[in-house]
Amino acid sequence: MTKVLVTGGAGYIGSHACKALAGAGYQPVTFDNLSTGWRDAVQFGPFEQGDLCDADRISEVVEKHKPAAIMHFASLAEVGESMQDPARYWRTNVNGSLNLLQAAVDNGVPNFIFSSTCATYGDHDGVLLDENTPQRPINAYGASKLAIEQMVQNFAERFGFAYTIFRYFNVAGADESGRIGEFHNPETHLIPLAIQAATGKRPTLTIFGRDYPTPDGTCVRDYVHVNDLVDAHVAGLEYLEGGQPSAIFNLGSGDGFSVQQVVDVVANVTGNNTPAKEGPRRPGDCAKLVSGSTRAHQVLGWTPTRSTMEQMVRDAMRWHAGKGYSA
Ligand code: UDP
Repeated sequence: MTKVLVTGGAGYIGSHACKALAGAGYQPVTFDNLSTGWRDAVQFGPFEQGDLCDADRISEVVEKHKPAAIMHFASLAEVGESMQDPARYWRTNVNGSLNLLQAAVDNGVPNFIFSSTCATYGDHDGVLLDENTPQRPINAYGASKLAIEQMVQNFAERFGFAYTIFRYFNVAGADESGRIGEFHNPETHLIPLAIQAATGKRPTLTIFGRDYPTPDGTCVRDYVHVNDLVDAHVAGLEYLEGGQPSAIFNLGSGDGFSVQQVVDVVANVTGNNTPAKEGPRRPGDCAKLVSGSTRAHQVLGWTPTRSTMEQMVRDAMRWHAGKGYSA
């Protein structure tokens, strides 16, 4: 079986990618330090515990498995936290990726798939974002991802491997099986927090700012179902294996939802009010991030099929009603 090394494979998106890879006939090998991931989420292939900041350990794992591709999900990925502690974001995300890229080129890994983010674009007065929109990140998370994008491209040019860079919009939902899902401790993301508030698991949700230049004053984001997102990764891998050129793709549904609209959908789906109060803006937040790109559809044949807000909330609810992970 063709091996794919999945960094962050014990995390939310990485675990769904492992399931999709296994379903497509690959063997996903998870590399994760379990700092935010869960051992219980590694269900679809071997597990190698390690930290990307440990250059010797990642080098040893790449040499041992000789994967045909690397999917690089492992990252610190919270906008608010990145503004509180930018050094940690630069150190972890950039150094870790550098060690991984070095291990990849030392072992001749031919294909590299990198998880980037729409946070690399920054604020653009509400225009829809495509892959050519100038990248002007306004938070340390987005800035660290932009640096890694450039590093991937520099290494690819010098050493001749192929890459896809996927710029994610907001990822939501959970696998239909209920076996894997989003599980953060503490939780910071909007949809799980709104579900917890609507189902009485937390007293209230705080809406971070109502004074943005958007129709209802709350931030607008583009939400995409995690299983749609990982399908694009498998398509991206097959594209590279077919000898196609390196490329960059936005991955979003193209629909913008404000924080207030998300809260309203959660209330409709749960049948409960979502208790919400107003708080200050969260430093580093853009007013609006919505994809206007059709490149992934045109080049990879990717069409999101599960990314309605109702379905994402329903799938997330089913997962959150279960017991989650214990280890
Ligand atoms: N948000 C909010 N209250 C919360 C968490 C998030 O109002 O408790 C807002 C946040 O400001 C952003 C949107 O919800 O506009 C999505 O935030 P999330 O952290 O889920 O994802 P991000 O956009 O940071 O990747």
